[in-house]
Amino acid sequence: MKLTELRGIGPKKAEKFEKLGLVTVEDVVRAYPREYEDRRNVRKIKDLVPEETAMVRGTIRAIKKGRYTGKGRRTLRLLIEDGSGTLEVLFFNAGYIERGLSSKTARERTYWFFGKVSESAGYPVMLHPAMGRVEAEDEEGRILPVYPLTSGLTQNDRRKAAAGALQLRQKGPDPLSEDLRRRNELCGLDYALANIHFPESDRHMRVAKYRLIFEELLMFSLGLGLMKNLFSQTLSNYILDPQPCEEEFLSRLPYELTGDQKDTIQDICRDMTSERRMNRLVQGDVGSGKTVVSAAAIYKVVRNGFQAALMAPTEILAQQHLETFTEFFEGTGIRIRLLTSGLPAAQRREVLEGLAEGSVDLVIGTHAIFGKNVKYKNLALVVTDEQHRFGVAQREALSKKGKEPHILVMTATPIPRTLALVMYGDMDISIIRDKPAGRKEIRTRVCPAEKRSKAYDFLRRELEKGRQAYIVAPLIENSETLQVRSAEEIFEETKKTLAPYRSELIHGRMSPAEKDRVMTAFKNGEVSVLVSTVVIEVGINVPNATVMIIENAERFGLAQMHQLRGRVGRGEEQSWCILVLEGDTEVARQRALVMEESGDGFVIAEKDLMLRGTGEFFGLRQHGVPEMKIADIYRHSKILKRTGPEAESLLAEDPLLQLPKNEEIRARIVEMYGDLDPGL
Ligand code: ADP
Ligand code: MG
Repeated sequence: MKLTELRGIGPKKAEKFEKLGLVTVEDVVRAYPREYEDRRNVRKIKDLVPEETAMVRGTIRAIKKGRYTGKGRRTLRLLIEDGSGTLEVLFFNAGYIERGLSSKTARERTYWFFGKVSESAGYPVMLHPAMGRVEAEDEEGRILPVYPLTSGLTQNDRRKAAAGALQLRQKGPDPLSEDLRRRNELCGLDYALANIHFPESDRHMRVAKYRLIFEELLMFSLGLGLMKNLFSQTLSNYILDPQPCEEEFLSRLPYELTGDQKDTIQDICRDMTSERRMNRLVQGDVGSGKTVVSAAAIYKVVRNGFQAALMAPTEILAQQHLETFTEFFEGTGIRIRLLTSGLPAAQRREVLEGLAEGSVDLVIGTHAIFGKNVKYKNLALVVTDEQHRFGVAQREALSKKGKEPHILVMTATPIPRTLALVMYGDMDISIIRDKPAGRKEIRTRVCPAEKRSKAYDFLRRELEKGRQAYIVAPLIENSETLQVRSAEEIFEETKKTLAPYRSELIHGRMSPAEKDRVMTAFKNGEVSVLVSTVVIEVGINVPNATVMIIENAERFGLAQMHQLRGRVGRGEEQSWCILVLEGDTEVARQRALVMEESGDGFVIAEKDLMLRGTGEFFGLRQHGVPEMKIADIYRHSKILKRTGPEAESLLAEDPLLQLPKNEEIRARIVEMYGDLDPGL
């Protein structure tokens, strides 16, 4: 049902709602309030306490208009009386309120004000409170929802829409069966929706919230379980010859694989020679050597006469993989091509032809390799590197290219184990824990901004030993509002101060060709210092680089710094990472300390969670976790523990949720996650 079905919403208003992602009546019903305004307790002005949020009723004794500022704005000051005292109410730039109070009768009316109390010269003050006439009884004395807004949409618009939508929505049966609700002490859906928007009391609200959180986490558990079942139901179209031909490839390597690398290759080969389709996640910290593992898999696939595709999150990384694989497969006759969106049309056509007719064995690229026009002759394996940039839905879409190829996902994102099991619940997991032999621990040091020059002296000494270095900055160019050193500014400096050693700048706004030129020069050692933004975050491999300076380290997330730091320490030499801290906050120092003390991505991820909370936890959405409306996988992990078994037992009885009694649940999952599979 379209939103325009609601009273008071025409096409214009509907457009504003659409900006917030709200298109249907059901969308509005499921767009839960961000918070609530509790307008039940009317307080006496004399009893107001600074810092509390309160509701006051009174008459307007005086209206004082301020001067216009240069921008045509002015302040409006009201003095409010309720018989117990006087409250000052201040609005900035509130012409509409001024106009509303311009009639003569305004002084005779009673108004309510709801807002946070502060104090000025001994008087209570409210800045920008919500206000209204007391006759409007409907708003007073209730707990009111607060929703996110956009320009042209008021809180009142949203409340009306929510109230209207609740009435108009089609009431089907509750997707959660009565049994399940009773077992888990959950209220019904109608009750939950009514009370999440317009709670009768705190208790009603809590009951509603619990039910909706539970529902969301149950759908999440079910969605993952369902995906797993869909996969496990698909038989492999590419059952490879169990003869271990990957040995040929491995024996050519200049080093011995670590135990975990060997085990992982074995897992992969077992998957691809079985009759089930592979869907495997390889998790290994930065530098643990995942690339070679994927190469073994690709080698095996190609030797079996099929094609493979390797997808990287950035063009730089795709280019680097091209070089690595060209070297890996030198002399094997395996034909490799690069496919990125930056490729000239003629070359692109050639690659596409090669893929369609089978003369290309391995294509490496960005998401362009799964573009609409790309056809494969017999794509049997899709590898995605650093998958935290790709979502579950995308992963699904990719896997539909060709005839359901095997899927191998590689990630360095150190996700705490409990969380990983939930997030990648639909995949089999191999973990690479050991580091290649002879790796030295990267030494990390914190450096206050005042001592920055020492850090650069140190960097210079490393350059004198023939080493290379990275300098990472949070921004490309200087910003008016943020006091940080930008990559451009640093580059201008290092060009001079580090001469004769050559510096180069690299960042995300450069064209692929420019980036490529700079990276190649850095790899060849013609450039000694690479000044960059986080574009080098993932995957870059230049073993001769032994120093990294992270400027304004306080602005980076812990997990991100760990990724960045993983760019050094890739060769035999001792490597260093220097975190330059601007300002001196407790949190920044604690975080820096974690970096100094730990080189283990998993430990860092746990600490990151503790210090930041999950809301921000390096962008869960990037990990393919669908956006939650009300639940938080980490904060509500106790509830998640209960939904897991419920999901399992539902799926045990009905693996693809096809029974009529589960129709509502299936509809809900499709609504939340999109069509997981055409057959669903
Ligand atoms: P990541 O897991 O971060 O993708 P890479 O695959 O880029 O790591 O490997 C990092 C470096 O380690 C590369 O230079 C690679 O050649 C090297 N390497 C990988 N495996 C081993 C090993 N078993 N012994 C020694 N060096 C290795
Ligand atoms: Mg890698």
